[in-house]
Amino acid sequence: MIPPAFEYHRPTDLASAVSVLQEHGDEARCLAGGHSLIPMMKLRMAAVEHLVDLQDIAELREIRVEGGRVTLGAMVTQHALITSDALASAAPLLREAAEQIADPQVRYMGTVGGNVANGDPGNDMPGLMQALDASFTLMGPDGTREVAARDFFEGAYTTTREDEEILTQIAFDAHAKGYAYEKQKRKIGDYATAAAAVLIEKDGTVAGKVDIAMTNLSDTPVYSAAAGAALVGTSCDAEAVKAAVTAMLEDIDPMPDNRGPVEFKRHVAGVILGRAIARAWSRA
Ligand code: FAD
Repeated sequence: MIPPAFEYHRPTDLASAVSVLQEHGDEARCLAGGHSLIPMMKLRMAAVEHLVDLQDIAELREIRVEGGRVTLGAMVTQHALITSDALASAAPLLREAAEQIADPQVRYMGTVGGNVANGDPGNDMPGLMQALDASFTLMGPDGTREVAARDFFEGAYTTTREDEEILTQIAFDAHAKGYAYEKQKRKIGDYATAAAAVLIEKDGTVAGKVDIAMTNLSDTPVYSAAAGAALVGTSCDAEAVKAAVTAMLEDIDPMPDNRGPVEFKRHVAGVILGRAIARAWSRA
């Protein structure tokens, strides 16, 4: 399939990119890795008259780890998440998740910004960012604003980002221990049937702080505060894990599709969360 004609813009700075978006409103879209947008255009499911390619804006490719805070430019690729030495020690959860996304070809092009900005409930980074309590920086004609990952996703392919805003960076606290990303998929390269991101900080011998987010089990990622709370003060024993799974199942709302009926998805979600908790606890 060939997409309809469009005008191609390739700004070298953020201000110029924002001004193209401002000028053309909902007729313009950012182009990051293109792995979601280009197929949508070819299938004529997305009509884009002005494509604003972000690849020449160098600052969007930066990875910084400073003072216990990790900052990723929106154009950091999934390949870079896997190969960055700084991230391997400051945010190993990212590598564990990125290695489970698609295949090397997709990961060389697909970006962390495109993965979250797209608002696809099947994407792995949104839930991960909610577990990390990440903050997204959006730049528009009136300056920048911060939106918490837990407030960003409104529905399938719908986020709080305005048409003329660019997601420029993602920031979260570094973590070294107590992490796991567990994903069930039908085959290599597939999106999740269910996935769980778990972060556990120990307080002495028990779990002190726990963050849990689930992927592809609702039309947005699901941060389950109740599931995390069920583990706090426990040693993540079988009873506590069962309580966390029960709480998580209250928060998700899967739809039947070619990955299975609702009951199957709920079953898989429970198994996946149990495995993720066990691995995160073993590393805490
Ligand atoms: P693009 O396709 O360029 O953009 C996607 C959307 O986000 C567009 O609407 C664009 O305008 C907008 N956008 C992009 N960047 C910005 C920005 N900085 N500011 C504002 N808006 C922006 N992902 C997973 O998580 N898990 C998987 O298992 C998985 N499997 C895949 C399998 C295949 C075969 C393919 C093709 C893709 C798969 N993906 C998967 C998605 C892929 O990993 C990319 O993350 C995804 O395509 C979006 O990133 P991108 O950089 O390609 O964004």
